[in-house]
Amino acid sequence: MSSIYSENLIKEVIDNSESDFWNSAVLEWDIDDVIEDQDNDSSCICGKENIRYLFTIKNFQNGNTLFPIGSSCIKKFNRVDLNEITSINETLFKLFHAVKENEFISLNSNYFSRKLLKYLLEQGGFKPNKYNNYNAENDYRFMLDMFNKRKESSDKQKSKIRAIIVTSIRPFLEGQLSDKVVGEKD
Ligand SMILES: [Zn+2]
Repeated sequence: MSSIYSENLIKEVIDNSESDFWNSAVLEWDIDDVIEDQDNDSSCICGKENIRYLFTIKNFQNGNTLFPIGSSCIKKFNRVDLNEITSINETLFKLFHAVKENEFISLNSNYFSRKLLKYLLEQGGFKPNKYNNYNAENDYRFMLDMFNKRKESSDKQKSKIRAIIVTSIRPFLEGQLSDKVVGEKD
């Protein structure tokens, strides 16, 4: 890491960590929150401008927080767990906007991943109802099967996908993300 942005990042993180060394300082942090700036008007703590997804990270040893930090800086922490959360969160915002605009959403990697479906299951993104025998996990399994199969879904499967998105995933995303989108566009 040699650029001025990287130097700024390293300084900010180490100044707010217990450790004085980058390699161990990066282990002290968790992702705490994220908002989307639709105007890309914000600057990362490293100084890089025009970032869209503004993450808050929190040091679990001393309680310090850093905001806003972009995903490319979080990647420099070199932590698989943080990268996973970062990417799930960015995809959730994309899915949220597509759902809100009533776009036809197919189960492809633009909006979904296996990890994202799992995240939705764990966070209550699938709702129990009479169509899934009051077991939300049935909808999760169906969506995962549809995501995994290479063949195009049948019309019947497509309308079931649509129903799950409209009745479960859309209200879940509205509840989670409505107040986390800032900016003019919309
Ligand atoms: Zn940055």
